[in-house]
Amino acid sequence: MNKYICYMPDFLDQEIKFLPGVGPKRAEILNKELKIRTFNDLIYYYPYKYIDRTKFYKISEIHTEMPFIQVKGVIKSMETIGSGAKQRLSARFYDDTGSIELVWFRAIKWQIENLKRFKTYIVFGKPSLFGGKISVVHPEMESEEEKQLQPSGLFQGYYITSENMKKKYLNSKTINKFQLTLISLAKGKIRETLPDQLTSKLKLMSLERALFTIHKPENTKDLKNATFRLKFEELFFIQLKILALKHNRDKKFQGFHFEKVGYNFTTFYDKYLPFELTGAQKKVIKEIRRDVNRNSQMNRLLQGDVGSGKTLVALMTMLLAMDNEFQSCLMAPTEILAQQHYQSISKFLEGMSVTVGLLTGSTKAKERKAIHAALQSGEMQIIIGTHALIENTVVFKTLGLVIVDEQHRFGVAQRAKLWKKNDLIPPHILVMTATPIPRTLAMTVYGDLDVSVIDELPPGRKPIQTMHFFENRRKQLYNFLKQQIAKGTQVYIVYPLISESEKMDFKNLEEGFRHISEAFPEAKISMVHGKMKPVIKENAMQAFKRGETQIMVATTVIEVGVDVPNAAVMVIESAERFGLSQLHQLRGRVGRGAEQSYCILMSSYKISTESRKRLETMVRTNDGFEIAEVDMKLRGPGDLEGTQQSGIGFDLKIANLGKDGEILQLARNVASDILDDDPILQKQENQLLLKNLLSTKDTGFDWSSIS
Ligand code: ADP
Ligand code: MG
Repeated sequence: MNKYICYMPDFLDQEIKFLPGVGPKRAEILNKELKIRTFNDLIYYYPYKYIDRTKFYKISEIHTEMPFIQVKGVIKSMETIGSGAKQRLSARFYDDTGSIELVWFRAIKWQIENLKRFKTYIVFGKPSLFGGKISVVHPEMESEEEKQLQPSGLFQGYYITSENMKKKYLNSKTINKFQLTLISLAKGKIRETLPDQLTSKLKLMSLERALFTIHKPENTKDLKNATFRLKFEELFFIQLKILALKHNRDKKFQGFHFEKVGYNFTTFYDKYLPFELTGAQKKVIKEIRRDVNRNSQMNRLLQGDVGSGKTLVALMTMLLAMDNEFQSCLMAPTEILAQQHYQSISKFLEGMSVTVGLLTGSTKAKERKAIHAALQSGEMQIIIGTHALIENTVVFKTLGLVIVDEQHRFGVAQRAKLWKKNDLIPPHILVMTATPIPRTLAMTVYGDLDVSVIDELPPGRKPIQTMHFFENRRKQLYNFLKQQIAKGTQVYIVYPLISESEKMDFKNLEEGFRHISEAFPEAKISMVHGKMKPVIKENAMQAFKRGETQIMVATTVIEVGVDVPNAAVMVIESAERFGLSQLHQLRGRVGRGAEQSYCILMSSYKISTESRKRLETMVRTNDGFEIAEVDMKLRGPGDLEGTQQSGIGFDLKIANLGKDGEILQLARNVASDILDDDPILQKQENQLLLKNLLSTKDTGFDWSSIS
């Protein structure tokens, strides 16, 4: 690579208004609607699909199920129908097999002036049914000569455009034209972003050729290679950034050295642990011990399905910290979860002399003061709480370990605030989540963390039986619930909405509560929902936990972490309304005791294919990771819980985490090899990579820490 090339102004940096055919007005629209400001932005605006424009149909073959049609023929007659805003232009279009209607609602005058009767046009558009007849609304019209002037490759790219753009006649076809213009000008001017040795080793198409091909593919093989190259590049730079950050942090931040496995850890393990650890728990504890016994900071994500025993892993890690004279804190997203952790951890520690505190929003001022003092003096070794722990008034003597439970509810910024509670050396961080994250997503969103997985449930658990019922089996369901309650089992019934007046067909919570009270006159019933005052909600939860009520009617507020081992039946009403990961989280509320437990998904008859897939997946498997994979395939990774709050605002233009797992793995391996060999990218051959790495600003991450 010639190093002088870097000082030349980049062709692609020119403002979009200078592209022939664009101009200032359209530039403004492109800018506003698609954030396209430069040539570079345009060329990286990829088609979302391709249409084969070599294929022509006969009018007699057309039916409304076809996504697009292309026919050749002539207009024989035109008329405007209606007036004012409802006015439309209707043209009758013929070939030798029949005729269809072409319709315009906008720019009618322009069409009348420009369309010629009995001239041969190529009509392209989506057929639809209107008044029992097939028509094409706002078709693309090209004369044969025009079609020859604009060879658009074998396939024509289709680009997403907004309604606002369409109103101003800036549609997919216009973007396509801009791309073709840009390509003709950019020949030989697009700089390669990957070093030669990489492109040749991986047999990647050059960047220039890939970009040209993605907009104007000549054949499927080229298109495939171009797509691969661009996906690889996209994922590779994300991985390079994440791994560079991780490498750098491991090196830069010293960590506390927990070298001792001392009295507390051993005593607990030998004398107080009420059961054998599962193999997976042992494996994870080993991984953690290795982390804290180096000289760098631990940043580990612990994934484990609901009920897999993460709390115990947290506790044993805290005892390890204590053996090395450090304090620990465990932060949960809600008051009830913090309390639950406090109770179970205090119970585990009964008989040992460990001081554990609970600090939440509702801790009384006097107690709060005492806790603050005990933390500052170091007398309290473990503190469990909510966001209250982040407050500046909370000062530790020597905080060595921060554990964050159910991470997707906390922002990265909040986590970071806890780190700072130690001046020089940051505490070790363990993030625990029960929301299984597909591997590809974890590699990207949490790619800077080390990942441990508890992939085994404690022994003796009976897998939850899941069933999907339609409304016709409600009576059967109620009989079943009555039997279960008679046996002393408690039941959850979850509803999706609360008093959404317009959706009367959905069983909302209040209606449901009334209905359930009538159907189960003998049972005592609690109700909780998000709009309740916290104290009232708390009381209702506690009553159910103590077994004073048999049925809990609730919205999804019970979703996270609540532990009532005696509750063995989960009924989810209008289950088609819930996302897959939410269904799985809800199901995780049961199956915690020795009894066989059940999850019953109630739905209406009319459900979409996607809802059906979700419910089928739930019935088929209890495996959270499998569910997460299906969820990602159904929804696309962008919508998955946790990605928004993750702090890495990556925005994939072409790669798809649901489908491109293999390319992602390759990209990560390649990036990792490069950094192993050259951690701060100082070798000559890696200068191009460093330059690209530093020039990306859109990730919301502070890459400047990479020196
Ligand atoms: P989660 O991973 O959902 O936080 P918990 O830590 O709450 O799971 O554990 C669920 C239940 O399993 C708790 O009652 C806990 O005491 C119990 N448990 C944890 N580990 C084991 C084990 N190795 N053997 C038996 N029971 C266990
Ligand atoms: Mg938990």
